[in-house]
Amino acid sequence: MSPTSARLPRPAPGLCVLLAIASLAVWPAAAQSSTALIAPLHGGVVTETESHIFETVIARDGVHVWFFTDESAPAMIGRATGTASLKLPNGQVREAALTLRAPATDGAGVFFCPMHAEVVQKTPGECEPCGGMILFHQDELFGAVDLSGRDLAAVTAQIRLSGLKGRQKEATFSPAFPLPDVKAAPQTPGK
Ligand SMILES: [Zn+2]
Repeated sequence: MSPTSARLPRPAPGLCVLLAIASLAVWPAAAQSSTALIAPLHGGVVTETESHIFETVIARDGVHVWFFTDESAPAMIGRATGTASLKLPNGQVREAALTLRAPATDGAGVFFCPMHAEVVQKTPGECEPCGGMILFHQDELFGAVDLSGRDLAAVTAQIRLSGLKGRQKEATFSPAFPLPDVKAAPQTPGK
């Protein structure tokens, strides 16, 4: 089980409210009528650039980045690649190449219809408005970095992407991770 999937199980109800509130602060108003996303779908940090929306998770195994359209709908990675520079609490910098990672085969993840932004779910299925088209299983960019034993809340990242679809073919951003005292998704069950 990857640290990513470990973050997906439903948090406590109170936590959901916290996540929703936290996401309101970063989620763009440009979402229009799309209600697909009311919180980060992968428990990560949402960053809006000029023409894209990204969600980033720093986990024990490295960096995970998911793509969304400028209307907040999930998107596939396509031909995009990138690099991540992670700055560790002790000042060390780790570089990782970000490459396409296929969705988990255990059925976990986000499933969506590329034609209907409102069709987003956490289980496999079909799009009714499309007449039963099998939903896409959202893939991700992943860069392996061994962060075991690190204080993940104190790791900062700069992500550089290229080969993007849309108006903006490249993007550089630094996800603003929650303060260490906002324990939105505890990852380590013990010490
Ligand atoms: Zn559809």
